[in-house]
Amino acid sequence: MNGAAPEPAPRRRGVAPRDDVALMEGYYSPQIDVDVRLNTNEAPESPPAAFLEELSGGIAGIAFNRYPDREAVALRSAVAELHGVGVESVYCANGSNEVLQSLLLAYGGPGRAVALFEPTYALHSHIARVTGTDVLAGRRDTDYLIEEGELERVIAEGERTHGGANPVLTFICSPNNPTGRVEPTALIERALRRAPGLVVVDEAYGQFAPSSALELGAVDNLVVVRTFSKTWSLAALRLGYAIAAPEVVEALFAVTLPYHLDALKQLAGRLALSYGDDMAGRVERLVAERRRLVAALGGLAVEVCPSDANFVLFRPTAKDAKQVWGELVDRSILVRDISTVPHLEGFLRVTIGAAAENDAFLAALRASLA
Ligand SMILES: *Cc1c(COP(=O)(O)O)cnc(C)c1O
Repeated sequence: MNGAAPEPAPRRRGVAPRDDVALMEGYYSPQIDVDVRLNTNEAPESPPAAFLEELSGGIAGIAFNRYPDREAVALRSAVAELHGVGVESVYCANGSNEVLQSLLLAYGGPGRAVALFEPTYALHSHIARVTGTDVLAGRRDTDYLIEEGELERVIAEGERTHGGANPVLTFICSPNNPTGRVEPTALIERALRRAPGLVVVDEAYGQFAPSSALELGAVDNLVVVRTFSKTWSLAALRLGYAIAAPEVVEALFAVTLPYHLDALKQLAGRLALSYGDDMAGRVERLVAERRRLVAALGGLAVEVCPSDANFVLFRPTAKDAKQVWGELVDRSILVRDISTVPHLEGFLRVTIGAAAENDAFLAALRASLA
């Protein structure tokens, strides 16, 4: 305003992020302000009121001036009890995404490779790349399951290109996000026998499925990853865990920052696990809602993929998916647009919500397709 010459812009330092990191796009799902949010597979209900009360009461007992239990023994013991394993087989972190990151920090890295089967959860390959790990991407078959021949092909490729211990991790998302089906136990067993490294079964939706890799018991190269974000109505808490051999848990701790789990989270996670019956009831209701939604979609001009999770993948057959997505937003309903993801062209993914939300979604979809 006073006519003085503007200050010269501060000189940028000559430092830039690693080339491969600069090229990456972060994981991102647009959060639009709508009435009905069915885009991120969260639970539709809040956690039980009694849990929230118990948690409020417990907060006063936390020694906030002290660092939390570094090994989160009480929380890990509660998870261990839930799954009938020893505490030394449980690793907890800030969301199952951080569990995946710890796995890649401990076992991945330059010169190493992981296997996965597309289309699948984007964070597996994303975190692999962030940690400088090579990604060997196999394909799912037309039903979006993993064929034994393809499993063999990708593992053999890892051994050939990166040496016999590779792929160091083989990721199997089951039920697979975003397609929805659980992998047959025989396929998981085949992977456990064949893979030279660890087989990481991401069971973020395990509670909604008829089978789980946890039923296989302790297998030394099996890592099952779960989360509090979906079934346990605690996406805001950021808590997930792995059940794995004690040596694996030790390796994960070795790459984890000290005191990574705050005391409040440790308390909340431990308390939540005492509401197992309540959670089982919620899962039952969501599975019943999923059946109802899939049946209703059957009467519309959409192709529907079978689902063992709390979401359903569908493809409008007579109208452009992006247009349908936009018309749902116009009616204040947000679903996930994955219509440009390779091999999923034209598909949308809807999270199973509460009955009224699912009704609102169905009504809006009917109107859009009419
Ligand atoms: C939602 C999701 C997760 C992530 O969960 P957080 O525990 O919230 O980090 C992990 N894996 C899959 C397949 C998911 O869909």
